[in-house]
Amino acid sequence: MMQIFMPLNLLGFVYREMKGSMANIEKMFDLLAMKPDVAEVDGAPPIKVTGGSIEFRNVSFHYHPDRPILKNINFRIGAHEKVAVVGSSGAGKSTLLKLLFRFYDASAGEILLDGVNIRDVSLRSLRAQIGVVPQDTVLFNTSILENVRYGRIDASDADVMSAIKRAHLDAFIAGLPEGVNTLVGERGLKLSGGEKQRVAIARTLLKQPPILVFDEATSSLDSKSEQSILLALREVAAAHTSLAIAHRLSTIVDADKILVLDNGEIVEQGNHHELLAFGGKYAQLWQLQLKSA
Ligand code: ATP
Repeated sequence: MMQIFMPLNLLGFVYREMKGSMANIEKMFDLLAMKPDVAEVDGAPPIKVTGGSIEFRNVSFHYHPDRPILKNINFRIGAHEKVAVVGSSGAGKSTLLKLLFRFYDASAGEILLDGVNIRDVSLRSLRAQIGVVPQDTVLFNTSILENVRYGRIDASDADVMSAIKRAHLDAFIAGLPEGVNTLVGERGLKLSGGEKQRVAIARTLLKQPPILVFDEATSSLDSKSEQSILLALREVAAAHTSLAIAHRLSTIVDADKILVLDNGEIVEQGNHHELLAFGGKYAQLWQLQLKSA
């Protein structure tokens, strides 16, 4: 209903603000139902993911033809595997996730979910399969309860409360004057980055999508917040395929697979121990982070 009453100039503002960031992909399409840049084939059927495998096959991408961003990307994530993407700033990590969400189409190659090309299915059904926990969740100026319920609008209060607990938000909420009915303030400004991420995790727990995409906050959180987020994420990722952009390598040592992206190419892939033993780019990044810890 909100989009019907939103003045056009405000819609334009929201659109521009959202377009730049992965953080807002879900809202951009689900809430405002804006026309996306990608075209849907006529009569595209819905996709119903059962396993949740993800495959990138020879995927290349550019925003502008004279500047390749992703170059011949190949990887496969099995159903229920937990995969992390690491790489320096500008390497193309967020772009990879934007392609999975079909925010843009690959310039070459294909992306498959459970073996189905994502270009052959309806956008709405594709996005319904993917839960996003962005770096900076945009919250509505309403209560925490309603903000979490956005994950599944018809969820009962009991389901919302259970998601809040599993997202490790209950201790924080217990300290608020009006508990779950506390208003979060204009654009969630009264919540810290870590608290906002846990609201996003609670939403995802309610939505229960087969595929989970997590964009770890770049700004460092205090270690208590980070631990709470990690615990909440483990809960949400347990029965799902997950793809996380990681900035702190300490958070991904137990990932099934780590993709190391460098200047638009996957230069290494393996688990933490394999990549350390390999002694390449990942091992260098690990040493660097150990020194700065
Ligand atoms: P970070 O860790 O800093 O978030 P990243 O690895 O996620 O970086 P991307 O956001 O995927 O990197 O960006 C890859 C490259 O694509 C960057 O050079 C960036 O400037 C460029 N880029 C990103 N979005 C656009 C866009 N909409 N139009 C043009 N270029 C873009």
